[in-house]
Amino acid sequence: MPGVNVLQTSHFHESKAVGGPVDQPAFLNGACLLETDLPPRELLGTLQAVENTLERQRDVHWGPRTIDLDLLLYDALQLDHDDLTVPHPRMTTRRFVLEPCVEIAPDFLHPSTGCSLRDLLDNISRPHRRIAICGVPGTGTGEVASAVADATVGHAFHGSIPLARALAQPDPHKRLELSLAAAECWHSQLPPESNDNEWQTNVSDYWLGSLATLNQETIDTAPCDLGKRLQKRIASCPAPHVLIVLRVSADALDERIRFCRGPFAGGSDIFADLEACLTSSPVEDINDSSWREQLLAAQERLLAAVGSAPRVPAWLPIPKGVVLIDADDLGDATHHALAAVEAMA
Ligand code: ADP
Ligand code: MG
Repeated sequence: MPGVNVLQTSHFHESKAVGGPVDQPAFLNGACLLETDLPPRELLGTLQAVENTLERQRDVHWGPRTIDLDLLLYDALQLDHDDLTVPHPRMTTRRFVLEPCVEIAPDFLHPSTGCSLRDLLDNISRPHRRIAICGVPGTGTGEVASAVADATVGHAFHGSIPLARALAQPDPHKRLELSLAAAECWHSQLPPESNDNEWQTNVSDYWLGSLATLNQETIDTAPCDLGKRLQKRIASCPAPHVLIVLRVSADALDERIRFCRGPFAGGSDIFADLEACLTSSPVEDINDSSWREQLLAAQERLLAAVGSAPRVPAWLPIPKGVVLIDADDLGDATHHALAAVEAMA
């Protein structure tokens, strides 16, 4: 490719296909270290030109292909355009990406986590894995956590209701109290990491960091004893190895709020956290569109905490593996979460 110099290439690593149609053949994965004058989008264009030359067809999502060339990292650059996201958003949990990368550039730093590629591979290679699924009430964290725990023969930990109750509380001091109680409860629920080498996966439908983003303004602008205790509790707790963040649109939230108001809500556990949120507010007359706005604002704060630097709040321990999933369709979201977890194996 003109303007591109290949400095290193890994061997091919064979991996089982994940996420796509069943029974497709294995994939061969490799990584290259390049030196180039091309800016990132031109480089992506060049990679796509190579894919086209090799007659890549784009008919089946995650299906068999002659070749797929992805831009994983570009120096320490972080960018998020419609057609290009760097670092590649799913690389931190994909063994088939990290193994060939570590072969050629183990010390290369992944800019959004600040970890070396070797660290990222170690992170997903531990026998004891802690996976947290988080999102504002109504994103389906409980449902996705149960599916992931089932698929990994892991242990599911449910605790999204206390978060929903804290979110529904308009008084900052009371919200802090509820958050601290939730943090203590979550902390005591999770078993400590043991040293034996038996494989074990713990999947929670909450992340302590959500409580930090929920109370961030109070902690930053009106520091008080409760706020300091919450901050200390969260900062001293090791981050999960992998965090799966579920994100929903305003329309999906509207639909789920309507569902929770409807006759079927009480009969099932689905979106129980959203229902708890709607019913536990001490203020009577909140209409559904203000609920939606409040939930979307909480979601923005959560995304700011796990997105590219500068992150807010800066003291929050961020997991090394973060996957962002659109959860407007809960079936699709579960499928993507399972694919992300399967790719760690
Ligand atoms: P995948 O690589 O996830 O199997 P595709 O190769 O079909 O899927 O890519 C889908 C789209 O992803 C491309 O059209 C491209 O614009 C976009 N894209 C965003 N970020 C990147 C990146 N870092 N590397 C490659 N493609 C990217
Ligand atoms: Mg691609």
